[in-house]
Amino acid sequence: MLLGCIADDFTGATDLANNLVRSGMRTLQTIGVPEAPLAGEVDAVVVALKSRTIAASEAVAQSLAALDWLRRAGCRQFFFKYCSTFDSTPQGNIGPVAEALMQALGADIAIACPAFPTNARTIYMGNLFVGQVPLSESGMRDHPLTPMRDSNLVRVLQAQSRAKVGLVAWTDVAAGEAAIRARFAALQAEGARLAVVDAINDADLHAIATACAGHPLITAGSGVAIGLPENFRRAVLLPLRADAAELPRVPGGAAVISGSCSQATNGQVAHWIESGRTAIRIDPLAIAAGGGDVATAALAQADSLLESGPVLFYATAAPEEVKAVQVKLGVAEAGAMVERALAAVAQGLIERGVTRLVVAGGETAGAVVQALGVTALKIGPQIDPGVPWTATQGAHPILLALKSGNFGSRDFFAKSLEQLDA
Ligand code: ADP
Repeated sequence: MLLGCIADDFTGATDLANNLVRSGMRTLQTIGVPEAPLAGEVDAVVVALKSRTIAASEAVAQSLAALDWLRRAGCRQFFFKYCSTFDSTPQGNIGPVAEALMQALGADIAIACPAFPTNARTIYMGNLFVGQVPLSESGMRDHPLTPMRDSNLVRVLQAQSRAKVGLVAWTDVAAGEAAIRARFAALQAEGARLAVVDAINDADLHAIATACAGHPLITAGSGVAIGLPENFRRAVLLPLRADAAELPRVPGGAAVISGSCSQATNGQVAHWIESGRTAIRIDPLAIAAGGGDVATAALAQADSLLESGPVLFYATAAPEEVKAVQVKLGVAEAGAMVERALAAVAQGLIERGVTRLVVAGGETAGAVVQALGVTALKIGPQIDPGVPWTATQGAHPILLALKSGNFGSRDFFAKSLEQLDA
């Protein structure tokens, strides 16, 4: 095991794992800190925490527990993954977690680089841009939990760190690995221990990754990860792997479960129905009304249909409809109720021999994974940017594609299932 990663949320963990697999590392994503050693051979593990917006002290404790497990698993280098929009507050959690991990690893310096140019997240002179606008003018300005109102990452990180924060500016990054390392040394001489690093394209990410080959800890978005496998190959620790994305071939039925109400998911559900495929709607008001188990009824309806092809179960609805349901039931109650019903549908499907499941919605995916008792996922081939197929571990693997709301093309559902047969 070469690289041990700690991600501060679930879909972010998948995004990172996907980048590692695409660069040739066999990667496993675990849900929380595993309780037992892992079975099977992988090059990298990404421990998915839910620590982005919890109290800083709790985020530190969970991250240290993850680090401890990854060290015992034999990892040589560690990666703390956060969002490419640097989602955090003056209390943390990026600074406190980074510092705690550095201390545990005895790291003198660590980078902080959320840049992901492929997704239009770039950093110049310490300022993070989202597309063409500075972070503080992007939608992140009004994020409900982590509003980002300063684009200058040196300032943002300094506010949540005890250690001094410095900058590796783009002029040094563009000059390449040696210049970046020289700048690290200069910053250390000035007493800085965290270094925000500019990056505006993938060549920058590769240069940064090369310059960090000897760092015990890297803190970053998923972008910098594209350059790390090459470091291990250069050190003759990682062979060229054509099979990094390989998943087991699993016979069985297929289904789609959709609890996301995002614009993208609404389009994907509409596309599925328009193309004449089978769909069963899960109605939140029917769940609330009681008088029979909605999940059981939906599964009974699906019984005869599943033999002739994949079935979509969806609670997905347009914004006005969701609003009306939320007014009647309450936002949290409606969400939890639908999540429970969809998780029960997922369980029922697995009992009926379904082994390939596409799930739309971050929270929905969390509920499904929990209901199925999934603790680790081997990451497979990418379907659309940021969304790979995955396989559960164990004697009877299930293939899962877990898509957060805004991801995926309009034909994502059918496309994912067809990819498995290709
Ligand atoms: P996304 O990734 O798009 O944010 P999530 O699954 O994270 O999707 O969140 C969607 C939330 O909306 C879930 O809690 C889900 O249970 C809830 N939900 C789904 N359908 C409806 C509906 N028709 N009315 C109200 N809430 C719904």
